[in-house]
Amino acid sequence: MLNIYLDVDGVLRGCASPKEDIEAFLCYCLDNFSVYWLTSHCKGGVNYAPRALEGILSDDLVKELAEKVQPTDWSTLKTEAIDFDEPFVWFDDYEGSYEIERLKEHNLEDSFYLVDRNDPNAAKEMLQYLEERNHESK
Ligand SMILES: [Mg+2]
Repeated sequence: MLNIYLDVDGVLRGCASPKEDIEAFLCYCLDNFSVYWLTSHCKGGVNYAPRALEGILSDDLVKELAEKVQPTDWSTLKTEAIDFDEPFVWFDDYEGSYEIERLKEHNLEDSFYLVDRNDPNAAKEMLQYLEERNHESK
């Protein structure tokens, strides 16, 4: 089972991907993997991530996300919240150099998926990527 870590800004909102593609990507994540927030909207013990998506994604999906996506806690680097012992994909539109350094220390830089917030095909490609990963592992 793959763990999925999700940034919000630039990945699920504030990006060029159409809403229906983002929703299809999220539904696939929820149906197939363990999903975690990895965003500044969820840290320090508070989780505003679902609220950040209100009015952007459908109400039903936001409700489902609030129920099923697990919160994480981190303070300086998002990598603090990642479980390196489990396979994962981390979707983010920002490649922090310290964070990539941490991934490299674990030989896990391939687990980082850089999202281009200006690419209207981004969410479609993210879904495709996970579908391929999922088929490989079956
Ligand atoms: Mg971001």
